[in-house]
Amino acid sequence: MKAPVDDRLAALRGSAKRRPYNARSLAALENNPRCTLRALLDASGSDKAAIAEHAGYPSPFGQSAFAFARGNTFEAMVKDNGCAELLRVLRETLKLTLPEVAYRDLNDVGGDGRNETRRDHTAEVLLQAAQGTGDGTLFDHPMLYLEVGGQEAFLEPDLVAFRIDGRFYIVEIKSFPIIDGQADPAQVRSATTQACAYVIALRALLEEAGIGPEAVSDTIVLVAPKDFTNRPTAAFVDARKQVSALTRQLARIERISDLVDLLPEGLTFDLDIDKDNKRPRRPAEELAEALEQVPATYRPDCLNHCEMAFYCRARARAEASLDVLGPAVREQLGGIDTVTMALGLARGQLTPTADQSDMAAALRHAARLRAELTGEVGGAA
Ligand code: SF4
Repeated sequence: MKAPVDDRLAALRGSAKRRPYNARSLAALENNPRCTLRALLDASGSDKAAIAEHAGYPSPFGQSAFAFARGNTFEAMVKDNGCAELLRVLRETLKLTLPEVAYRDLNDVGGDGRNETRRDHTAEVLLQAAQGTGDGTLFDHPMLYLEVGGQEAFLEPDLVAFRIDGRFYIVEIKSFPIIDGQADPAQVRSATTQACAYVIALRALLEEAGIGPEAVSDTIVLVAPKDFTNRPTAAFVDARKQVSALTRQLARIERISDLVDLLPEGLTFDLDIDKDNKRPRRPAEELAEALEQVPATYRPDCLNHCEMAFYCRARARAEASLDVLGPAVREQLGGIDTVTMALGLARGQLTPTADQSDMAAALRHAARLRAELTGEVGGAA
């Protein structure tokens, strides 16, 4: 008989301390929903950065100290004086008719900053506001909460939730610039996906009091520096699709036992850390073998959001997987699994199956065109 799923997840993590879910790890579920390796590493609370490093692929993941400091300075400026600058932006840039504003700082409760205390206080204050029995329009640092696959996830937003016309909105304050009304799409997507976790958590909180999901907007308010100045501007970002996708992925985590059941008995990502010198004792090759037992669906944008990205990219390259070229190419080349196979068909060195014949003809044609353009001889058969 198989052990309960919690025990098997604990065995995957091994002796390491459990790393709880946070908004970033939840957002990553939406970024690469097909990835079994990521789902299992997160569900087991494994330390992805330490595992990647020990496998030989340390990741320079995370913000630089300079970017971190700049982000903190910008956020502090926007929130100074009870969010005075944020209010100006909401009123002037987004034309919101916010009335007299009551500002509530939910950072701690009378000096008690424990997660559980803050979560309960946040719940009380936001429920009162939703039910019209409490004050508050702007809520700074609410502590939200979700149960994910049976594990607690405290979501501590750097953000503000505000309530207008009976609806809550989530504000994300970021330090990347909005230049001529445009921002880097990858950064916007990353910011709004995290905000989606807050939308879902806030909806879950209100749902307990019988308040429907429409009470929390899935339009995110993004606040960021305008052009090359330090002056904030704001934009609405429609996050409906991302909220739906993340909701589906959270439901998938609830069914993590389906994935765990497919793993070989005894599989673990344990690094066997030596307590004295804090170094892993497990041979790196053995860890690599364990990782290879689990399917990973590498995509180029993994580099933006996952600590395992260099490891997975190397693995996909070694397997000549089409994944290294991204989902658009993979979809285009349906029925073809590897770069080697695609090149073999393009060069006429492989005989296509019946399913591959159309694609093989297209690849040979593309190879001929390329050969003509580059002056190569014999680019295709
Ligand atoms: S980097 Fe690897 S583990 Fe992380 S999401 Fe991408 S494929 Fe999955």
